[in-house]
Amino acid sequence: MPANTVFMEEMDAFTYRSILDRNPIVFVPVGAFEQHGPHMAMCVDAALTKQMAAAVAERVNGIVAAPIIYGYKSQQRSGGGFHLSGTTSLSAATLIGIVKEIVLNLAEDGARRIVFMNGHYENYQFVFEGVDLALHDLKLSGTDDVKIMLMSYWDFVDDETIDRLYPEGFTGWDLEHAGVMETSLMLLFYPDLVNMDKVVIEPPATMPKYDILPINPDYTPASGCLSCAAAASAEKGRILRDVATEHMVGAVLDEFE
Ligand SMILES: [Zn+2]
Repeated sequence: MPANTVFMEEMDAFTYRSILDRNPIVFVPVGAFEQHGPHMAMCVDAALTKQMAAAVAERVNGIVAAPIIYGYKSQQRSGGGFHLSGTTSLSAATLIGIVKEIVLNLAEDGARRIVFMNGHYENYQFVFEGVDLALHDLKLSGTDDVKIMLMSYWDFVDDETIDRLYPEGFTGWDLEHAGVMETSLMLLFYPDLVNMDKVVIEPPATMPKYDILPINPDYTPASGCLSCAAAASAEKGRILRDVATEHMVGAVLDEFE
């Protein structure tokens, strides 16, 4: 077992219990199992969020719970769509239930400071709902000292960094699916799971301003990517990690210390 790991999955239960005794901040990464084009593995959202959570946890002496590796239905305008093979999605009710039960279990273990870190655009409101329902139940059973924070890591990349990393203009986080940010972070954390030779060179996807069901597959580019990852690099990944981590550490300490 690796000594001093922040990952709960890698700890024995006795070490975990002794760490919980000091009331650490417990980070829960929330990802998705989703196609990320021809150039990246399908694990991206969960894998990156786990690493971003670890980067923050290390700075605040926290720990990282096992990630939720499936997420809410990939939306066509932010993830290419749940119709695509290689995307295995959960319903809203299931994701809400998973989040709620994780909170109740962690609280039962003694966790009192929890951060849900989101890495899949579509998850956010359902994570919020699961957290709120869990806190409601905890309160009814007499536990009212659990505090929970929710965040999506890309919201902590500041405008100055965006200008620096996207000199040709930034299309928005929704179109970043399998684009420069995720690909750069994957090159930093998991270079073996990226093949830059397979990046499709194409303009950003043009999506309608509305959703249509059943999905019209023609709106999603054949690559499944919503913007081009050709400009991605491990160095950009390092900048994104460092900037986002710095701001997340600040926010977490503001709320919990
Ligand atoms: Zn993604």
